[in-house]
Amino acid sequence: MLLSANSLSLSYNGHNVVEGFNLSIAPKTIVGLIGPNGSGKTTILRALAGLMEPRAGTALVQGHHAARLNKQIRARKIGWVPQQESAAWPLTVSEVVRLGRAPHRGWLMPFTKDDLDIVECALARADLLELKHRPVNKLSGGEFQRVLIARVLAQEPEALLLDEPTASLDVHHQVQVLDLVRGLVNEKGLSVVMAIHDLNLAARYCDQLVLLHNGRQVSVGTPEEVLTAENLRAVFHVEAKLYRDPWGAWAVSMRQNNPLRIPTSPDVGVC
Ligand code: ADP
Repeated sequence: MLLSANSLSLSYNGHNVVEGFNLSIAPKTIVGLIGPNGSGKTTILRALAGLMEPRAGTALVQGHHAARLNKQIRARKIGWVPQQESAAWPLTVSEVVRLGRAPHRGWLMPFTKDDLDIVECALARADLLELKHRPVNKLSGGEFQRVLIARVLAQEPEALLLDEPTASLDVHHQVQVLDLVRGLVNEKGLSVVMAIHDLNLAARYCDQLVLLHNGRQVSVGTPEEVLTAENLRAVFHVEAKLYRDPWGAWAVSMRQNNPLRIPTSPDVGVC
């Protein structure tokens, strides 16, 4: 296994936010982390990316503690796309995507033709060729998200860790990015772990889902096994049905448990 978590517990300032998390991520697999805000998805991804030390248990990359691996070696194995990254640098799209080659060539080495071809392909795959000379601080949030995806493609890692990769994308680019990820998984045997809010996209693109609630694993398995009415009621407080859409993919239909509840405040009354 390239990536695994064993009895992983994680905390911030002594406050536990993830408890006893276990996962083995096989090659050619997309694992989706789902759960309400604050359930620990980003924190687990950060630990698998080696960006934080576990309080207990292990986050391993090919059997090595992720947080203790040499950074350059880690970057050849794992590509990490955070949900938010500042676009404050005065660099163009193309220059940012070229940074993805750093783990393979060192900072001071000139780019080879291979490097430049890989960068060009990453730009094309992320639909960024027309924007490649644009400064990244002049892009929309969704365009910048695609730049981060292109940078990780140029990095050519063996596993991808994606934190809400579609959160700021329009529908066209959501499908494009997830089709691209699925294509890489199928062609190159990548392992992918992604936090994803949209349960329809999670059902359609993920091989395995992990449902989290308050930092604990509530359910692990195929979309059909995890996205049950009982699980979604217990964790998200919605009534939900999993069904096959007209193209044969899994989809989820949802409505609130109590749609007529009127918000009230003890001080103000009905709001
Ligand atoms: P999710 O990605 O599922 O929304 P997170 O992993 O971001 O959840 O957060 C899990 C918990 O950890 C939340 O209660 C959140 O408030 C807390 N948390 C996240 N980041 C920090 C931080 N840097 N410092 C302290 N607490 C944090």
